[in-house]
Amino acid sequence: MRDVEKYEDPIQFRPEYSWPDPGTAANCPHCGESMQLIDPRPEYFGKPWWCSTCQWQFSQEDLAGHKTSVETNSDS
Ligand SMILES: [Zn+2]
Repeated sequence: MRDVEKYEDPIQFRPEYSWPDPGTAANCPHCGESMQLIDPRPEYFGKPWWCSTCQWQFSQEDLAGHKTSVETNSDS
């Protein structure tokens, strides 16, 4: 019995970008238009979000960084 050659993770998943679930929607932080979620293909190493209006890619981290949640809790 021979051991079948083991492959070491032939498919590398991009560790840089966290990929949103399919069907997730997001708006462009620049123009506010809805963006396209790109299919996570092995040969694609870009960012998950594509704004066709701005012709620009965005990552989840980009969106989080642009999020302006300035809520101030006023305790009485
Ligand atoms: Zn845009």
